[in-house]
Amino acid sequence: MTSQKPRSPSTPHRPSQGNRDFRNRTKQGGKPSGEQKNMSRGAPQPLAGNADASPAIILKAGREKSLLRRHPWVFSGAVERIDGAPRSGDTLPVRDATDNFLAWAAYNPDSQITARVWSWREEEVIDAEFFRRRISAALEARRALLPSPAGGITSDSAGVFCQPSRMASSSSEGRGEGMNNGARLVHAESDGLPGLIVDQYGDTLVMQIGSAGAERWRDAIADILQELCNPACIYERSDSDSRGLEGMEPRNGVLRGALPESVEVVEHGLRFRVDVAAGQKTGFYLDQRDNRALTETLAKDRDVLNCFCYTGGFSLYALRGGAKSVLSIDASGDALRIAAENLAANNLDGSRAEWQEADVFQALRKLRDQGRSFDFIILDPPKFAPTAAFAEKAARGYKDINLLGFKLLRPGGLLATYSCSGGISEDLFQKIIAGAALDAGVDAQIIHYLHASADHPVLLSFPEGAYLKGLVLRVAG
Ligand code: SAH
Repeated sequence: MTSQKPRSPSTPHRPSQGNRDFRNRTKQGGKPSGEQKNMSRGAPQPLAGNADASPAIILKAGREKSLLRRHPWVFSGAVERIDGAPRSGDTLPVRDATDNFLAWAAYNPDSQITARVWSWREEEVIDAEFFRRRISAALEARRALLPSPAGGITSDSAGVFCQPSRMASSSSEGRGEGMNNGARLVHAESDGLPGLIVDQYGDTLVMQIGSAGAERWRDAIADILQELCNPACIYERSDSDSRGLEGMEPRNGVLRGALPESVEVVEHGLRFRVDVAAGQKTGFYLDQRDNRALTETLAKDRDVLNCFCYTGGFSLYALRGGAKSVLSIDASGDALRIAAENLAANNLDGSRAEWQEADVFQALRKLRDQGRSFDFIILDPPKFAPTAAFAEKAARGYKDINLLGFKLLRPGGLLATYSCSGGISEDLFQKIIAGAALDAGVDAQIIHYLHASADHPVLLSFPEGAYLKGLVLRVAG
């Protein structure tokens, strides 16, 4: 078998001048970030192999083990040589040192992850049909798994995939399971599509591409999504920091259709405006859906503090759950403005809500110095440790806010604390929280272990997919 050339990708990858500049910047431009430093250690550039041979990635002897366990990444340090003259985004066979086929994978010479696996089957052809099969399987899994197929992803004969009438009527009618129209439709490696994320907000899809392989198939993927889901818009938010590590320029704009003036997601009957073009990630944190719903059940008659509130997700659930008061803090004024709109759109009692634009690290200290206390504190910070290289620094950050959180809790109070850092394991996170409780001088019990919602599945052979972890703790009364 030789390398697979995509049959008809609408935009063949051509590294632009901009791309090259970007790579030069990250390699030579001043001080590399901790992550880049760490990732390049012990990861020598693979030797160019036989230029006349068919393109292939040949691994060093003994370095095929993780692929045999079906982990979908080939790190540069495992590569013995690259045969042929492949370009970034090409699909290549990965072979062990004795030439046995291991996988078809997308090549990226600019990343420390030299290749990401598309398929373990030698006979599989990586073409538009392959992507149709994988995307269809991901959609089908959501239909089967989510309580109300994420609010009506239906591919009925008309190709309609969301039901605006139900969305519109859901605002004040309660919190039934059917009141969802948002879901992560494709969760990258865990859905067999490395580097591809697709989130649904009503009839808008937001696509994020974080690998050279997915970048190569970008237009084919957009066509397939359009055909299978028939959304009003497919918007591309390929502007996450991690694209830099893959040697790719950021991209942000409409891919298909037109972006509606206002995009909204309905979650358990609550409506949230989603700033698809400029909001964080793809505009909303769908992964916390179940955990937000749990918050509602815990909030009654409590004074709640929601730190890192973004557009008010946990705050609105707490208010609907009967919280006595909710103080919400975030550093982003834009997010807080949307939060205030969301509060109004859901007809919730604004007199119980207070919003504060501040740095949480400072705000918690101020609250402590003011002698404030709460019955329920939520800490959902941004990613402190994208990879294990940042774990130590991140651990200090988590310990700091959690220690302050424990100190602000009244006896018998609850702390819901999260980490979305891929570089912090569940076990380490629990140890950090235990250390924070010890230093705060409180005894606490874990009452819930939390993860991302079911539309963010974790491939068993890819533990990196389990980035979101959370604990709800009750401090002794
Ligand atoms: N809980 C939210 C998502 C939180 S995302 C939800 O359910 O939707 C993390 C948030 O932390 C972002 O809104 C970001 O603006 C905010 N943030 C990041 N650093 C911060 C800091 N130092 N102080 C306050 N907010 C911060």
